[in-house]
Amino acid sequence: MGKVYIDFDPQQGFPKENNLFYECQSCHVEIPSAPKENLCCKCFNIFYDVDEDKFSVQDTSKIALFKKS
Ligand SMILES: [Zn+2]
Repeated sequence: MGKVYIDFDPQQGFPKENNLFYECQSCHVEIPSAPKENLCCKCFNIFYDVDEDKFSVQDTSKIALFKKS
């Protein structure tokens, strides 16, 4: 499967689709954009809270959005 990176502005919110994923560019963990549970990457840069349905990102320069194709 290939990755197609998509430009996005974290200030404008976090797109959620089944085939979209976030990648932490510090620890290179991939996180689904529409998770069903609390998730965080290894370095805790990206955290998703399922109760609040919200992504929290410490360093927005270290996050990328991509589509699997
Ligand atoms: Zn990370």
